[in-house]
Amino acid sequence: MTTGAKRDYYEVLGVSRGASPDEIKKAFRRLARQYHPDVSKEDSAESKFKEINEAYEVLSDEQKRAMYDRFGHSAPGGGAGYDPFAGGDAFSTIFDAFFGGAAGGGGQRSQRGPQRGADLRYNLRLSFEEAVFGCEKEIEFRRLEGCPSCKGSGAEPGTDPVRCPKCGGSGEVRQRAPLFNMVTVTTCDSCGGSGYVIPIPCRECRGEGRVRQGRHITVKVPAGVDSNQQIRISGEGEAGPRGGLFGNLYVALDVQPHPLFLRDGNDIILELKMNVAQAALGEEIEVPTIDGTERLRIPAGTQTGQTFKLRGKGVPFLRQNGRGDQIVVSRVVVPSKLSEQQRKLFHELARTFDPEDQHDHDDGFLGRIKDALGL
Ligand SMILES: [Zn+2]
Ligand SMILES: [Zn+2]
Repeated sequence: MTTGAKRDYYEVLGVSRGASPDEIKKAFRRLARQYHPDVSKEDSAESKFKEINEAYEVLSDEQKRAMYDRFGHSAPGGGAGYDPFAGGDAFSTIFDAFFGGAAGGGGQRSQRGPQRGADLRYNLRLSFEEAVFGCEKEIEFRRLEGCPSCKGSGAEPGTDPVRCPKCGGSGEVRQRAPLFNMVTVTTCDSCGGSGYVIPIPCRECRGEGRVRQGRHITVKVPAGVDSNQQIRISGEGEAGPRGGLFGNLYVALDVQPHPLFLRDGNDIILELKMNVAQAALGEEIEVPTIDGTERLRIPAGTQTGQTFKLRGKGVPFLRQNGRGDQIVVSRVVVPSKLSEQQRKLFHELARTFDPEDQHDHDDGFLGRIKDALGL
């Protein structure tokens, strides 16, 4: 930081160290008008204008000024690193705040600290697969946008906002209480503090500077999203009045259930039905996954509630590499109707069983279901 070369802020504005806020403001306005790059023909106008803005930014703020008085340019958080041109937008804000439409601003945005527009919420329904793999969705909604007729100024085309006659453009009304020698400053009710008024309001927007219009955008939904999450899209909300910034759009997600799969965070659960023969003898079975079918080896003696993991076949982690798993929960289906032949075979089978074996495999059933569901 090259603070050595910096001029003293009071010197920049040409005021004494004891100057009142009013004197500082007046000095700033006079100099800002003189050195505004659009007005001044001087080569160094822009750097001077920048210097003036920086000095004013610090000296007009009671706290920053106190810090500056104590620590000079090395004041922590002070004006040393302040750049009114950074980000591009600060320039027009400063310009508009003090020149208004009447002083030659061309009647575009002319507002003291433009008010930001409202945020919007859009409820977006997604299928199970769209949430798992991500997607692009076209959405349409209506929002307030800058009025094309007056370009957001609120003034009828061909006319300009003018300096507020009540407050003279300062946006404030000062009243002196005679007994206490105290000055009360209130926001000017005539212009709402903006410092200008619109003599002929734009017919399209009735002076508000914005109109309701249809908007069509594409929302990129990342893979792995779920219900109760929302995507923020900056600047897709409503325009603020008279050239104010746009609010944000919040796209709230609502993911529909799937006929086969159940989602548990990043895992996908599938119930796999099998007949008693498959369960007893074991078999390689085709299993549906979110990516298509997958062959799964069911071991002999598989019980209802037993789980099998298909690694990496679950839901992708949101904005990260990797995926969850698919958990296959087996369900052995006992036939409710038997053919004559089946009945005979079951009878035959029954005679081969030892009654002592009955309770062998049942103990872990509830535990396995709980494991599978992560309970
Ligand atoms: Zn308009
Ligand atoms: Zn006013």
